[in-house]
Amino acid sequence: MKSLNCARKTYRNWARHTKTGSNFDENTIDTRPINNGRGRRKMLTLIGKGVSPGMAQGKAFVYKDVLLRDSELYLIDDTQIDDEKTRVKKAIDDVNKCLTIDAKQIEGKLGKQSADIFRAQEAILHDSHVIKEMNRVLETKMINAEQVVRTVFRVLARRFRDMDNEVLRERGDDIDDLSRRLLLSLAGIHAHSLEKLPANTVLVARRLLPSDTVFLSRSSTVGVLAEFAGPTAHAAILARELGIPCVGGIPDLLETVQAGDVVLVDGTTGSAVINPNRQALQKYNKAFDEVGKRREKMAYVNSVERTVTLDGIKVPIMANVRSREDVELAMQCGADGIGLFRTEPFFLSTKHLPSDKSFATFLRNSLEPARGRHIDVRLLDIGADKNPIYLHLPPEPDPFLGRRGVRVLREYPDLLEAQLRAVLDVSQEFRVGVLIPMVTVESDVTHVVSRLQKFAAEMGIRSLPRIGAMIETPAAALSIAYLRKHVDFFSIGTNDLTQYTMAAGRENPLVTEYFIDDHPAILRIIELVVRESGTTPVSICGELAGRIDIIPKLLLTGIRSLSVAAALVPDIKFAIRGIENKAH
Ligand code: PEP
Ligand code: MG
Repeated sequence: MKSLNCARKTYRNWARHTKTGSNFDENTIDTRPINNGRGRRKMLTLIGKGVSPGMAQGKAFVYKDVLLRDSELYLIDDTQIDDEKTRVKKAIDDVNKCLTIDAKQIEGKLGKQSADIFRAQEAILHDSHVIKEMNRVLETKMINAEQVVRTVFRVLARRFRDMDNEVLRERGDDIDDLSRRLLLSLAGIHAHSLEKLPANTVLVARRLLPSDTVFLSRSSTVGVLAEFAGPTAHAAILARELGIPCVGGIPDLLETVQAGDVVLVDGTTGSAVINPNRQALQKYNKAFDEVGKRREKMAYVNSVERTVTLDGIKVPIMANVRSREDVELAMQCGADGIGLFRTEPFFLSTKHLPSDKSFATFLRNSLEPARGRHIDVRLLDIGADKNPIYLHLPPEPDPFLGRRGVRVLREYPDLLEAQLRAVLDVSQEFRVGVLIPMVTVESDVTHVVSRLQKFAAEMGIRSLPRIGAMIETPAAALSIAYLRKHVDFFSIGTNDLTQYTMAAGRENPLVTEYFIDDHPAILRIIELVVRESGTTPVSICGELAGRIDIIPKLLLTGIRSLSVAAALVPDIKFAIRGIENKAH
């Protein structure tokens, strides 16, 4: 049994990320313009939808992603040539400085090879031919600095892309990236990367894309406010997993909040206060402390007791994670294992297809805190809204109905092989399972199983890791009787299952009222999956599993295992202990 001190330490780490509590004072709601004209910005309460629970206080960082096509074209006259040249030179200097910093940082994180990408970009910016060409285009075409950058770098990128050598062809992307950096610098935006946010930042964004969220970090970002972010948008899921309070669905956010504004976020009730007065701050601090005390008690109870309903049903609570930091948090929160290890951030953060060795190293390092526990590693679920640059997946008319998850893996054997070999390697030390994403037909599963068997034989591994299918499509849910012949377990991904059953895109703000993940249709499908699966275990790892109000209904469907964002584990465990499952 853990000591109280140990539980307290655990709590401190965990509670820092998961404060929940009461709403802000209703009287503070004010829809008048935020600036009172005397320079002091007025307090304002914004109401949205809580998509990741907890309370936070920080300074606003307004994230505006500049699209390259937004930069305007204008002609200049003789008197402006020198000014525009100076702007180009300054942008080059700025970008060079950033590249040097990035190279150092990446070298520390990922090694020299990855850092060389930035060094090669630096070399291009130092190339006298490139600088001469920019000056020539500026003087002959008499166009502004932004258009000079676009013109010169477009030609340069094309030149690389036309080369015979594949490695050099890929340099085209690095040139585009350079062009983007220069344009951002010309627009006066230096910190477009979410990687380098200062401590205590509340990120304010219109919408966050998965590639942006790869860089979110608990050490800097204490809260997120977004105009668009439904509870199952990937950004919202990530915020929840990181234990970062998040409020979505706040209209005109970017027109309302300014960089540097003090922001209070309540992700539980879905509200935020901008530039709070002393009274609002006191109220916030009091709520924060009260919640902290309640949590401290609960974290201790959770660390020493198992999760069993009042009538004796055992319900293991696993965690959804994507990094070592998450796994540490999951263990501190008392998770019984890892029910979903999302691998997309790792594969999206590199410029080249990672080798099986580098993936195995990443897994070993990330999984260490959960050694000895069940850990289900999901194979890469890309396509749709997530595309690693090295695959060059062409755009599709209906990305969510197109090449995604296992469909991509079947088309890119190298990508599948690297992952399976890495998991097989790691399975010699850890209790890992393999989860197949976006299954629709039986051959999606048999294909992966046969590859796994082949690589295991080649590697001399006799006992295969557990293999599971994600049930995220109605087709898979209706094919359990066939699928169960090939797998050891099922994990229901209610986020995608809802989008495909309710025909409502999970990232589409226009149909959120149709995206009902606790709809009777979804609960019936879950019940069907449990019934048809026979003795094959079924768990839920979609966001529905974290809904305390729905858990009694999930238990009635026969579900006996859940996987939720790490920070939610204590609350879920606590709630389950108070449930009596009448149907049992
Ligand atoms: C799901 O679809 O419910 C799921 C867990 O997968 P993801 O949210 O990563 O698509
Ligand atoms: Mg899914």
